[in-house]
Amino acid sequence: MSKKKIILTGDRPTGPLHIGHYVGSLRRRVELQNSGEFDKIFIMIADAQALTDNYDNPDKVRENIIEVALDYLACGLDPKKTTIFIQSQIAELCELSFYYMNLVTVSRLQRNPTVKTEIQMRNFETSIPVGFFTYPISQAADITAFKATVVPVGEDQKPMLEQTNEIVRRFNGIYGETLVEPQILLPDNAACLRLPGTDGKAKMSKSLGNCIYLSDSAEDVQKKVMSMFTDPDHLRVQDPGKIEGNTVFTYLDAFSKPEHFEKYLPEYPNLDELKAHYQRGGLGDVKVKRFLNSVMQETLEPIRQRRAELEKDIPAIYKMLKEGSDVARAAANETLEEVKAAMKINYFEDEELIKRQSEKFAK
Ligand code: ATP
Ligand code: MG
Repeated sequence: MSKKKIILTGDRPTGPLHIGHYVGSLRRRVELQNSGEFDKIFIMIADAQALTDNYDNPDKVRENIIEVALDYLACGLDPKKTTIFIQSQIAELCELSFYYMNLVTVSRLQRNPTVKTEIQMRNFETSIPVGFFTYPISQAADITAFKATVVPVGEDQKPMLEQTNEIVRRFNGIYGETLVEPQILLPDNAACLRLPGTDGKAKMSKSLGNCIYLSDSAEDVQKKVMSMFTDPDHLRVQDPGKIEGNTVFTYLDAFSKPEHFEKYLPEYPNLDELKAHYQRGGLGDVKVKRFLNSVMQETLEPIRQRRAELEKDIPAIYKMLKEGSDVARAAANETLEEVKAAMKINYFEDEELIKRQSEKFAK
């Protein structure tokens, strides 16, 4: 089996990408890409997965492919180093999912914590589309099709990776060593594991409308920051404030760097001092929010500028996606051939089989 270092990860085209994606996965992907340590990097726009809970809104998925692709390139993903492709264009992934379905029980899927939360979030109750219910299996197909060894994602994807590794072990146990077990790569900063929404809800998520998008204008970012959830009991400036669950401080944990203090808030040497003052009392929300706004603008401005350039040539982006999809298809096809051989459904390539049966019937 190959010992190559391969990355696969991706995003659902259910909206433009937000700063949760940036700290949870995107920023890391660009670093890994530029480290030169990986033999191959595949980044997938998961349109087929997005359709599992947006099947009645194909236009939403269709319109957001380009948004996600623009965000990728604006953040520094480089098609010369990274294969960017569209999931639905790789039919091999469906075929793999179909075979993996035999290796997973209904009750195992029902226990998947991410699927559970997402079912609640989408108010499916008992009318869960089978496609949505089984998306962890299709995700296992995506990861294994490219023989990914490393999957950089946010914390919500942990149960998906566990499920994938179970499928790999079961497949290899029954059919012989074929698939590669991937490792999850989580952000090393706790605030980035699952960035909360601007409303203070547990996760910033396109589907919850509590996002700061990478493509938001400077004015929108400022508006969103200034109306963000903080400590609801911190009513007067002199009151002591809470840091835990205070979204403004969580975002500062995720985004602020020492040089931001020097530049925008020199009276504090670092974030710890700012937090301590807030906890003691005497520091108002507005001042902290203004600082966060400066940090966010500095982080997002270069991305915004690159995006504006890229938006001038949309056909070039589609061309890049098509080329990426062709490369991805070839890679997935190789794995599918190995899977079919292992599962003994490669009849026409198996000369031994035909010879043996010829002899059997000749008797
Ligand atoms: P949807 O609401 O449609 O599921 P989403 O905002 O959850 O959209 P996804 O496309 O499902 O985004 O997730 C893409 C990647 O971004 C995954 O690796 C996921 O772990 C990561 N991610 C998404 N939201 C966050 C977040 N709030 N904090 C950290 N990582 C995140
Ligand atoms: Mg999601």
